[in-house]
Amino acid sequence: MTVFDLANVAYRYPGAADLALRPVDLSIKAGQFWALCGPNGSGKSTLLRCLTAQLTPVSGTVSFAGKPLVSWSAQARAQQLAVVRQNNQAKPALTVREVVALGRTPYRHFWQAITLADREAVDAALRQCDLVALADRPFLALSGGQQQRVWLALALAQTPSVIILDEPTTFLDIHYQLDLLKRLKALTQRGVTVIAVLHDLNQVLQFADTVALLAAGTLMATGTPEEVLNAKRVGQLFQVEANRVQDPAGQSALIFH
Ligand code: ADP
Ligand code: MG
Repeated sequence: MTVFDLANVAYRYPGAADLALRPVDLSIKAGQFWALCGPNGSGKSTLLRCLTAQLTPVSGTVSFAGKPLVSWSAQARAQQLAVVRQNNQAKPALTVREVVALGRTPYRHFWQAITLADREAVDAALRQCDLVALADRPFLALSGGQQQRVWLALALAQTPSVIILDEPTTFLDIHYQLDLLKRLKALTQRGVTVIAVLHDLNQVLQFADTVALLAAGTLMATGTPEEVLNAKRVGQLFQVEANRVQDPAGQSALIFH
């Protein structure tokens, strides 16, 4: 099943001379782990914002689950599509459970009490992210890595079919980076689609099914990380010297100079 279909999607920020995103065609299948990669300013966040309807493309169409994204109500969309917050944004003075429960907003009218389904979805999200023991702790008392797991749990409480993340590993130490990527990988194995901006190309080689490489607003390559992230292309794009090696476990890795 196709989750996203983009035809000729381009974006220009108001008042800007150039397109931040030149016309893009792509199709994202359910259950895939997609990585968006490219230098700073290459249009990764812009493309993500077109997928989440934060930005309306100046041309082309984004279809989500077979329907134009613009025809989805914000509420119906949020039941399918969750955006994981970056942990450098405002932090709420709430308990972990209360933060995760915010993920149920798309299912509730403001006058409604919490339903059994809400409670179950919050409990399941806490369990999936190993947060049960921390559920009643203040969010602010957690480490950055644990807080990032709470943002993921909030997204999971939405019971989405797609999870979108912009640089989710940026503020995490290597332990929590791998912890998050493994959780995302496990979600794709249960049919959830993950679309993430990632900077660590070795993590992309290890975890992603498909990588889309952006350069100055142009989608320059899409395919498996093995195909797309060859040393020559990566070296040219990031203006570094790159070599591809295999680690002892047979996993491809890039070494940069
Ligand atoms: P990336 O996420 O790959 O670093 P972005 O999608 O944020 O890149 O930015 C792509 C281009 O659009 C850049 O040239 C950037 O300067 C420009 N841009 C990003 N956000 C805005 C904005 N709010 N207004 C004007 N230009 C922007
Ligand atoms: Mg960005």
